[in-house]
Amino acid sequence: MPSDAAIRKARRLAPRLEAWFAGHARDLPWRRTRTPYAIWVSEIMLQQTQVATVIPFWQRWMRALPSLPHLARTQPERVLKLWEGLGYYSRARNLQAAAKQIMAEHGGRFPTDPKSIRALPGIGRYTAGAISSIALGQAEPIVDGNVIRILTRLFGLQDDPKSKPMQEILWALAEQLVKAADDCGALNQSLMELGATVCHPRAPACERCPVARSCVARRKGIIHLLPAKPARPASVQQLIHVYLITHAGRMLLQQRPEGFHNAGFWELPNDETCPERSLPEDAQPLATARHTITRYRIELRLYAMPRKKTPGQWHAVGELDSIPMTAAHRKLLSQINLPA
Ligand code: SF4
Repeated sequence: MPSDAAIRKARRLAPRLEAWFAGHARDLPWRRTRTPYAIWVSEIMLQQTQVATVIPFWQRWMRALPSLPHLARTQPERVLKLWEGLGYYSRARNLQAAAKQIMAEHGGRFPTDPKSIRALPGIGRYTAGAISSIALGQAEPIVDGNVIRILTRLFGLQDDPKSKPMQEILWALAEQLVKAADDCGALNQSLMELGATVCHPRAPACERCPVARSCVARRKGIIHLLPAKPARPASVQQLIHVYLITHAGRMLLQQRPEGFHNAGFWELPNDETCPERSLPEDAQPLATARHTITRYRIELRLYAMPRKKTPGQWHAVGELDSIPMTAAHRKLLSQINLPA
């Protein structure tokens, strides 16, 4: 737990952070609403994704699926299509699963108690805290990468922030901050905003920071050391062979099965999800593409293959834009002349 002095300091800082947010908040589309559904969608989209990228996706999503019942009853393929380009597609699937759960268990109204919010698929403690505080005015804390960076620097916390004792301290400090606020939604958003616009991972703009005078890391000259970085797991190389099988102007596609990353998306047959096909020894790739998922460095190689008994569905080239398809396979196809 944090020391008494740290708790007193957190309480003192809350009004300064709130006042700063009132004068410096960016005008983001989801800040013009307090609807739990809209806040929830924005928070899920913002996980691992920059604000500038999320804005058009969020606007498109809210136009297509303006309320929770719309999301619950729409086709899963439409949900994935609206998400295409944001990555981490389990987030989209969890959104729809949670919407269905809310329809079934809460009569279609977003639950208001934090325990029920956290029981929904895809909603962890941070997202529950963000929705509770911003949309419902409840004094629930948030701790994510931004908040970790700010708190470890402000309070000079030098241990691994992922460790259990440090997590307890960080959540306790975030709780003290939000409990001391007049507007808990504004307080939590001030932390998000400060982390995104001022307290950058590298070269923070301390001269613009509303709490700079209280920042231990700044005083001690150890900003660059915080938050402490745990050792990274080694990266893993992965090679995937992808098969272009065409017939009469159409190509064979398969849907990624459950249990795989991006499940439900369409892609060309490949030896990641369907390993039984083997390549001739002298096969030359038509195209290659590289991408990274967490610690996996993946290389895809595309080969033309004869039509055999491969499971899948035939799709005309003109249909590809309207179906959810993995970005890596679109990248491969963009490098070749497709059958007309
Ligand atoms: Fe971050 Fe600088 Fe503010 Fe400290 S003074 S919290 S390092 S921006």
